[in-house]
Amino acid sequence: MTVGSFSPGATSGAGELLQLMLDGTPRTRAELIKLTGLARSTVGARVDALLAAGLLTPSGEAASTGGRPPAQLAFNPDAGVVIGADLGATHALVALTDLRGRVVAEKAFEIDISAGPEVVLDRVARTGRALLSGAGRRRDELAGVGIGLPGPVEHSTGRPVLPPIMPGWDNYDVPAHLSTSLGGPVLVDNDVNLMALGEHATMYPHVEQMIFVKVATGIGAGIISGGRLHRGAQGAAGDLGHVAALHGDGIPCTCGNVGCLEAVASGPAVVRALLEHGIDAGDTRGLVRLAKSGDLAAATAVREAGREIGHVLATCVSLLNPSVIAVGGLLAQAAESLLAGIREVVYGRSLPLATGELQIVASRTAGHAGVIGAATMVIQHVLSAEQVEAQISSAAAG
Ligand SMILES: [Zn+2]
Repeated sequence: MTVGSFSPGATSGAGELLQLMLDGTPRTRAELIKLTGLARSTVGARVDALLAAGLLTPSGEAASTGGRPPAQLAFNPDAGVVIGADLGATHALVALTDLRGRVVAEKAFEIDISAGPEVVLDRVARTGRALLSGAGRRRDELAGVGIGLPGPVEHSTGRPVLPPIMPGWDNYDVPAHLSTSLGGPVLVDNDVNLMALGEHATMYPHVEQMIFVKVATGIGAGIISGGRLHRGAQGAAGDLGHVAALHGDGIPCTCGNVGCLEAVASGPAVVRALLEHGIDAGDTRGLVRLAKSGDLAAATAVREAGREIGHVLATCVSLLNPSVIAVGGLLAQAAESLLAGIREVVYGRSLPLATGELQIVASRTAGHAGVIGAATMVIQHVLSAEQVEAQISSAAAG
């Protein structure tokens, strides 16, 4: 991000003022004085610091009340760019966004997550650099990098913790690798948390309580509480895949336990269940194709998986009282059957007060929730009052 020079004393509080402007509404200096209750000179100094940093930009004129119309200022989403990456077991999507989280350019490619962190992260970095230069942006315009990984991540350090499908990644310093090859700051989280963040920011910005559920090779959930991502003490909040399923009945799970939700209701679990009835769907994609083509056995099996997930979600609804449950991931492409099963149980098992306003819907971000969420995580960090203050004062000192 380009930051101009400023005398240190004048900038204190500029970060706070920017928070008011992040809703995108253009405002005049007079309106900011009224909104903050601060002195004209104080607001003037903060606005000047933000203009010099490129974070505010002139935005036309307000309606005149007689005399020269007052100039308006607005948040400048082009003051920097962000790279958001969403890594799955076999595929990756890397996107370049502006500071609103709007995707400017993107590239999808195949990966093998089990090839290890060096190989995979080098590919992400190469793709990020290509997107930057393709958009005519310099490396020093990169405000930060966000990345979602398909496994448990300790958010505070950005390191994966014993991720079952990611051999070689345990405790690997992902931020160090990417900040060397791309530029920092680099923030890391698990993919489902970021999908929740992306779906919320894009489609439900005014919803305070929401759950995003991913149903694919694994099952997981991201929780938005009070309008913010709720990670829990270690970042494991929402890890629903390994809670006990109602009809788990000793079915072995990849985690070493038995009877987990993932062992009965994930894509591979439904494929296995169908195989016992002599129907070979191949894999989760094949299962989705079969269910969408109107195959009764496949649709019934997916709906049954939805019911199993619904039993777990009914408990979540009682605990969290969300107003939206968005369902994404590969198996959600067979949305009608899956949602029907989930709705049947959640509405049947919850009290009317909790379900009166509850929407249970398919994800609406068409596979982009993860990259938008990764970018949003970075944007929330770099545009926080604290970080903006730090940037402006270090530019002033330099
Ligand atoms: Zn398990």
